[in-house]
Amino acid sequence: MRNVPSVVPWALASAVVLALSATPGARQPAVARSAIVFIGDGVDDHQLTIARNYLLGAGGGFSFEYFPYRAGARVLTVLESDPSIPEYVGDSASGGTAIAAGVVTSRGRIATRAGNGQAVPTMLELAAAAGKWTGIVTTSSVTDATPASFVAHINRRFCQGPDDMGPTPTDPRCPEALKANGGLGSIAEQIAVSDVDLLLGGGYRHFDQLDESRVSVVRRARDAGYRLVRDVAGLDAIEGAPGKLIGLFGDDTLPVEWVGEADARARPVEFESDGSVIDPQPFRCVDNPAFGSRPTLEAMTEFALERLGAAPDGFVLMVESASIDKQAHQGRPCGQIGETRALDQAVRVAASFQEQHPDTLILVSSDHGHAAQIIPWPSLFASRAEPQYPPGKVARVRTLEGGVMTVSYGTNENYLEEHTGTQVPVFARGPGGESVRGLMRQSDLFGVVLRALGL
Ligand SMILES: [Zn+2]
Repeated sequence: MRNVPSVVPWALASAVVLALSATPGARQPAVARSAIVFIGDGVDDHQLTIARNYLLGAGGGFSFEYFPYRAGARVLTVLESDPSIPEYVGDSASGGTAIAAGVVTSRGRIATRAGNGQAVPTMLELAAAAGKWTGIVTTSSVTDATPASFVAHINRRFCQGPDDMGPTPTDPRCPEALKANGGLGSIAEQIAVSDVDLLLGGGYRHFDQLDESRVSVVRRARDAGYRLVRDVAGLDAIEGAPGKLIGLFGDDTLPVEWVGEADARARPVEFESDGSVIDPQPFRCVDNPAFGSRPTLEAMTEFALERLGAAPDGFVLMVESASIDKQAHQGRPCGQIGETRALDQAVRVAASFQEQHPDTLILVSSDHGHAAQIIPWPSLFASRAEPQYPPGKVARVRTLEGGVMTVSYGTNENYLEEHTGTQVPVFARGPGGESVRGLMRQSDLFGVVLRALGL
């Protein structure tokens, strides 16, 4: 396993895209044996366009954008205090729950209903009950909201490990989920005794904690039959060995692939003392020196498909590129672009797998929209008597095709950028994918997967 070269040459990318865009057509089986669900966290059309412009040029397209089936998905969320009233901006917990369990819930909830907290079964649980193998691959902690929504049931996404259960000054957290109170424990504790065959990602620190009986979650997982590896060498050594496996390649979210040159990110627009604007310096994206030796999303997906591909009755795998969202929160376009590239590379691995196994459904979608927008620079109103410039923060990125793209973040002035309430795209290929069309609900994707698998 290795890191991959930083730059996808446009011509090569286009050639691969053309190969991937071929519709399976007549040889497409009616029922899927397996399903692979990709989630680009925080990906909407604007975030996709930013990454596409940088990597592939304004006329390019990611591999999944050439899939034969495509839809827009409404991101529906409701108020916890009154689930009959919509909330117009979701999060990874409500979006993850919609996709994983087909239920519209309130922000922060993990596979539980708004208002009453009732647990709802996830597609991984239903697939496991039907004899399929299941897996989760993510660049975040495996206890983070998106992966958690596929495997755990809890009222608050932040209750990731035993140490996170108690109240904070601003949040009551999860007293009802303590085992002493009849609950299932934290997300890590639930993963440790779950049916999921394979989990790869970050988050070791949530497992390196003692539960209410003073037993570590790592120990609980081993007692439940999991092998635990913490680096690529460990993963390579285990290849082919049977049994349940958790790979945790960092303490929390894994380092991202790319950063801006000299750690450049979006900044507030600055002016000279005479009031004239200072053009933000354009920058390129470079490899993140802190990436280290952790496996890429592509490598983890490849490992997962080799392992789950041996399942006698098929599998369901969820793969998340998590830090598109986390980097957008920080106003870091290069982080977003690098993690979108990682998503595309992982999807290509799945598409190659599907070439060999046409009875595989591939879905690519997102949990919610995000903050970044492409804007004109200078502002169209820069030459007015009182020149106007965008509020918030701005980054100017020099794209691989030689242009300069200006990206604006304007959802929060002094803290992290915020999610936005736009619909998100869905791309599909393989049996069952044909029901991905028009305007859907995000929660419909659950039914698309289950129907494709005949469950
Ligand atoms: Zn977020």
